[in-house]
Amino acid sequence: MHVCKYCPKSFNRKDNWRQHLRLHTRPNTRLKRVAYNPEAVKQYTTETERLIHSRRVIRNER
Ligand SMILES: [Zn+2]
Repeated sequence: MHVCKYCPKSFNRKDNWRQHLRLHTRPNTRLKRVAYNPEAVKQYTTETERLIHSRRVIRNER
């Protein structure tokens, strides 16, 4: 279970959680009812870098 730090939502899949986290990185999300949060920008950047890195590792192993 992946819980959002910035609102009470939680997600079974990390992909969905990351997609939701991205909404918090956009200042203009009033219609989506997801508040912009600068901490979410940092976390999303970290998660994205981690994902890119892990993909590179898998590629190197093959
Ligand atoms: Zn959230």
